[in-house]
Amino acid sequence: MVQKYFEVLNLLGQYQHFALTTHVNPDGDALGSELALYSILKDLGKRVHIFNTDITPKIYHFLPFQHHIKPPADLKTVYSGIMPEVLVVLDSGSLDRIGDQLARQLQPTEVIVNIDHHNTATKFGDLNLIETGASSTAEIVYRLIQASGLEVGPERALCLYTGLMFDTGCFRYSNSTSVAHRIAADLIEEGISVDEVYRFVYDTVPQVRLHLLGDVLQTLETTEDAKIVWLSVTQDVLKENRASSNDLEGFVNYIRSIDSVEVAIVANELETGDTKISMRSKTYVDVGQICRLHDGGGHVRAAGCLIQEPLHEALAKIVASTRLHIDGWHSESE
Ligand code: 5GP
Ligand code: MN
Repeated sequence: MVQKYFEVLNLLGQYQHFALTTHVNPDGDALGSELALYSILKDLGKRVHIFNTDITPKIYHFLPFQHHIKPPADLKTVYSGIMPEVLVVLDSGSLDRIGDQLARQLQPTEVIVNIDHHNTATKFGDLNLIETGASSTAEIVYRLIQASGLEVGPERALCLYTGLMFDTGCFRYSNSTSVAHRIAADLIEEGISVDEVYRFVYDTVPQVRLHLLGDVLQTLETTEDAKIVWLSVTQDVLKENRASSNDLEGFVNYIRSIDSVEVAIVANELETGDTKISMRSKTYVDVGQICRLHDGGGHVRAAGCLIQEPLHEALAKIVASTRLHIDGWHSESE
C-alpha cells in the first residue's frame, strides 16, 4: 500500500495544473479531504482549482481554504479552452457522483486520480487510490501527506479531523478503528480544538430544522417485525418548512436508534418526482449492497441511491430489497 502512495505522489509531481472535485451534496469528509489536498498541492507550487457541483453548506464555512471552491458555472472562465492536466476526484464511489456537468465538462488532458474509501468504489481513475478499510477519505489523504514528508500543520489538520469526525459519526461507528483514533490524536496535537469542530458541524442547527424533523418523524413506518423502519419526505413538507433536501442530513440516525431496528431508511421525494434514498444499518445488513441493486452505493452501514420512481413506489422497492437481504442473511447464518 505504501508503494501506492509514492505512485500517487510521483504522478502529482509530474504535472503542474490540477483540478479537484468531490461528490454532490458534499459532507465533512468530501470537503475536508479535498481542502487538505488542495493545500498540499498549493504548497508544492501547483496551479490548483476546486470545482464542486453543490455549494458548501454553511456549517463548513469554518474550514480553511473553502472560499477557493468554485461552482461548475466558472469552468469556462477559469479554463477558457485549456483544461487541467490532472483531475483528482475525492470520496466519490463513481464518476457520476461528481454531478453531470462536471463529469461531462471537467475532462483533464492527462489523468484522473481517484481517491476513495467506499465499499462500492469503482476504479474509474487512471490511477486509483482506493482503501475500503479506511475510515474516511481524509484518512487516506493524511497518509498521503505523511508519505510526502510535508507537515500536516494546523489548517490541514482541521480539514482532516473534520473528515474523520464526520465519517466515523464522531468516532462511534464500526469504522472508528484504532488507526482512525491514532490519526485523530496526531491531528489534535497539531492544535485543533475538537469541541469547536463538533460545535461548528453539529450544534448549528437552525430551529426550523427541528420543526421539519418533528413533521417528518410523524411519517414513521415499520415492517411488522420492526426491523426495517422508514420516513417519507414529500416536497410539500419541505416547502411548508421552507427547507430543502440538505436539511434532512442526520434524520436517518434518529430512527436507526430504535431498539428493534436493523435498517433505517429516509425516502425523499425530489422536485423531479424521483426519490432519493438514504439508508443506515446497525449491525449486520450491508446497505451498500442493497443500494447497489438500485444503481447507488456507499458503505456497509451507510449508503444511498436514486430511484426514478415516485416516493411510495420507490419505498416499496427498497423495503422489498431490504427484506430479501435480511431473509437471505438469516438463512445463511442458520
Ligand atoms: P447519505 O445517506 O448520507 O446521503 O449517504 C451515505 C453514503 O452513501 C455516502 O457514503 C454516500 O457517498 C453514499 N451514497 C449516497 N447516495 C448515493 C448514490 O446515489 N449513489 C452512490 N453510489 N452512493 C451514494
Ligand atoms: Mn467519505
